Amino acid sequence: MNLIILGPQGSGKGTQANLLSNKYGLKHISSGELLRQEASSGSDKGQIIKKILERGELVPFETIVDVLEPEMRSAKKGFILDGTPRDIKQAEYLDWFLKENDLNIDKVILLEIPRETSFERLSKRALIEHRTDDTPEAINERLSIYEKNTLPVVENYRRQGKLLVVDGTPDIDSIFKELVTKLQTLAS
Ligand code: AMP
Repeated sequence: MNLIILGPQGSGKGTQANLLSNKYGLKHISSGELLRQEASSGSDKGQIIKKILERGELVPFETIVDVLEPEMRSAKKGFILDGTPRDIKQAEYLDWFLKENDLNIDKVILLEIPRETSFERLSKRALIEHRTDDTPEAINERLSIYEKNTLPVVENYRRQGKLLVVDGTPDIDSIFKELVTKLQTLAS
């Protein structure tokens, strides 16, 4: 099974992707996490990525391709792609890559939360995790990019009948239970 999980910042997609990856034995591929690792590596490329992350902007298309391709290729038992595609160009590339490699996306999970909840959760996370992109300016930038660039991708998946929408406002366990129920209903 190959899944994508999307949602605004603070919707808990990383947490749910982790739980799903453990339950179904899928490789959790988080573009944000891979980029944060590269940023902290101290390499020249890492320095450039670090600055982009701090501003809350999207990294260039080529960087995402470089980071994700080896991960997807090595996920022999399926993967859950967390945080990609972020725009139409990435979605088109992903379609092409999957086709080339005889792969398919079974479902695209959308965790929905209102903008205010996003902002509140990220502001709280800033106090705990000290992520450099959880400043008010970067949070606003990231939410605007999500609405402008990522929502059109979500709409495309909706039109293709691939979207599985889940309310991201309850607690972690309730969201996970609903996700598993919905995925099992589809599988049976
Ligand atoms: P995330 O952990 O998914 O919220 O991602 C954190 C940051 O990593 C984003 O604000 C972007 O700067 C960058 N990022 C993550 N995924 C992508 C992507 N698919 N395309 C471009 N930038 C990304």
